[in-house]
Amino acid sequence: MRLAVVGAGWAGMAAAVEAASRGIDVTVFESARTLGGRARALPAQLPDGTPLTIDNGQHILIGAYSDTLALMQRVGLDLSQALLALPLALPHTDGSGLQTPAWAAHWPAPLDALAAIATTRSWRWRERLALVNASLRWQRQGFQCDPQLTVAELCARLPARVVQELIEPLCVSALNTPTVDASAAVFLRVLRDALFGKGFAGFSASSLLLPRTDLSRLFPDAAAEWLLRHGGSTQMRIGTRVSTLRPLRNAMDAGPRRWRRGL
Ligand SMILES: Cc1cc2nc3c(=O)[nH]c(=O)nc-3n(C[C@H](O)[C@H](O)[C@H](O)COP(=O)(O)OP(=O)(O)OC[C@H]3O[C@@H](n4cnc5c(N)ncnc54)[C@H](O)[C@@H]3O)c2cc1C
Repeated sequence: MRLAVVGAGWAGMAAAVEAASRGIDVTVFESARTLGGRARALPAQLPDGTPLTIDNGQHILIGAYSDTLALMQRVGLDLSQALLALPLALPHTDGSGLQTPAWAAHWPAPLDALAAIATTRSWRWRERLALVNASLRWQRQGFQCDPQLTVAELCARLPARVVQELIEPLCVSALNTPTVDASAAVFLRVLRDALFGKGFAGFSASSLLLPRTDLSRLFPDAAAEWLLRHGGSTQMRIGTRVSTLRPLRNAMDAGPRRWRRGL
């Protein structure tokens, strides 16, 4: 079986590694000259002409991204070298907001998050207890809720300060969507994974993982090297835009072998 992967972003490279490890011949097509898509490195220059490599935007992983981390390990990355793990912190510029104290930084989830909640200076005990109670209620409900519910509705009874300093920044950073529009079911899944998950390779689920290398080297380049070493007749076609996909007539009935690329 042959497979064309269109786009060498993190998703495309993950699909290519998975397919190649199942013995499928993969060809990856990427229109850009750099691998990584929205999480990639870019060549740039200082005003004096000195070349440098920058990322196309800051990216943070969390310890709960266990499948991503496992994939990075699979293509040969040493996670402790590639990532700097910091305890969960959502500070505002004035220093207020949720922050895990240094003494609890290595506690397993959810104890590290509970320590952060207990020691957040700007919160009253009533606000801390309301969050702990809500978290325990969500945990009892298996972190599930009505799929129509928004995050704003889910958290309507939480104190305003908890919503402003924890729920809103977490929702925007994790789901890229304001609380009035974001799905509560997806948000609860994020909370389950990030605050109550097991983590991976020694990282707590709630740890913030900052890349120590540029974003292309962090996974896409390593995945491409892995593919060329292990992927049989895998090909990387960089700088090649796919403009058409054309299946053969009756290909759906005949199965994948009868599909042909129209590239
Ligand atoms: C500034 C910024 C900050 C972010 N911060 C975070 C963060 O902190 N944490 C986090 O988890 N996520 C973050 N994200 C989101 C994350 O970058 C994306 O979710 C992820 O990179 C998407 O990967 P992807 O492979 O699905 O798609 P993409 O990265 O979009 O990859 C698609 C690839 O397909 C190629 N392509 C498209 N069409 C064709 C074609 N016709 N032929 C050939 N190639 C084609 C494109 O060139 C591209 O390389 C951030 C995104 C941005 C922009």
